[in-house]
Amino acid sequence: MDFQPRQDTLAPPQTLHIRWPLALLAPGCCRGLAPDGDGLVNLAIAIDGATVTRIEPLIRIGGSRLPLALPAAVEPHCHLDKAFTWSRFPNPSGAMAGAMEANFREHQDRSVAAVTDRINRALQTAWRHGYRALRSHLDLGGRAGSQATWEAVTHTWDAWSDRLQLQAVALAPLEFWSTAAGVRLARQLARLGGGLGGALAHHNTQGSPWRERLAGMLRLAAEQGCMVDLHLDETCDPRSRCLEGLLDLLEQEPLPVSVTVSHGCSLAQQPPEQVRRTAERLATLHVPLVSLPTTNLWLQGRSSERRTPRLRGLAPIHELQEGGVTVAIGGDNVADPWFPGGNFDPVELWRFAVPVTHLHPWDLRGLTPFTSAPAQVLGLAWDGVLRHGCPADLILTEASSWQALLSTPQRLRILRDGRWLS
Ligand SMILES: [Zn+2]
Repeated sequence: MDFQPRQDTLAPPQTLHIRWPLALLAPGCCRGLAPDGDGLVNLAIAIDGATVTRIEPLIRIGGSRLPLALPAAVEPHCHLDKAFTWSRFPNPSGAMAGAMEANFREHQDRSVAAVTDRINRALQTAWRHGYRALRSHLDLGGRAGSQATWEAVTHTWDAWSDRLQLQAVALAPLEFWSTAAGVRLARQLARLGGGLGGALAHHNTQGSPWRERLAGMLRLAAEQGCMVDLHLDETCDPRSRCLEGLLDLLEQEPLPVSVTVSHGCSLAQQPPEQVRRTAERLATLHVPLVSLPTTNLWLQGRSSERRTPRLRGLAPIHELQEGGVTVAIGGDNVADPWFPGGNFDPVELWRFAVPVTHLHPWDLRGLTPFTSAPAQVLGLAWDGVLRHGCPADLILTEASSWQALLSTPQRLRILRDGRWLS
């Protein structure tokens, strides 16, 4: 029996009628289904407890009024500890130097209570918008406020563990990882299932022994069993080639832990042959790249004069995908000195990113950066593909087509563990 829940009930659904991207339906489910021009099919899915137990085609029912549904979202790269700090630590210049300076002032002001409040607010918002997992970089490693940040993280991780899968990456100065305090933090992160991070680009590595430091950090990550996720080449300056330095090290000595690179903006300024070669190396080493369009369109391509940006801070996503690299899209900063917008809303991020990246949601390559690829980055059990036995964790939009979703902000209904959140 079909049951579409009314707005005023939170009773668990038994069967849902939805529109779904055929590319995110497991092969073997509903053979012979023909998608429409948006790559969507009409499905009836049966739910028992927290699991999808049956998937059937809705051949005769027109899809014009069924809700377009998506898998619960995964955030591959955010900064929970500084979310919502723009109002107290604004960066009106919009430039990276101003962001750094405001971020530094914010560090002096950190307390366990303040960081806990921000993380809870961020996670509450993300949860209500249908996220199921988030990886957050956190300002740690010998900075003012590091201890407060760490305490806030351990409290909040514990409090949310029954609802969200959370991963912590310590965003620390590279040299910190060669200190005794760095080794101690790596041990703590290992216990939390977290990772080691840092930020490397032409402007902050020039003249420093960064390759040796990076090699030391990778060794530490391997020893402690921590994954690695680096902010790399977050600039449109073509001289920034830290990613190549990382790949050299990984080729010399393969790591037994997962490695992710974030940003990679300057790669888009390299000659095509160089981009092709880097894509090949990333694919061979199974290193995914996370592109962060909101923050990087905001920060990169600025000049001191009032000038329209020409260079956009985007990794060459399509060329990387063509070379076999897993590319995920993340939300990065939310209302902090690095980017004033954002609200942990995966559908809003998608709506923003489609025209910016030309990732068409009616193609598989346009879908995966928002679905399966972030799940792969976090190493999650569910890849977001609908199949018998998968979690009943869905986002239902008000739209019935991609065009409608792209035209209008969406009020979302979230199904988690087979129950409506709202
Ligand atoms: Zn970031």
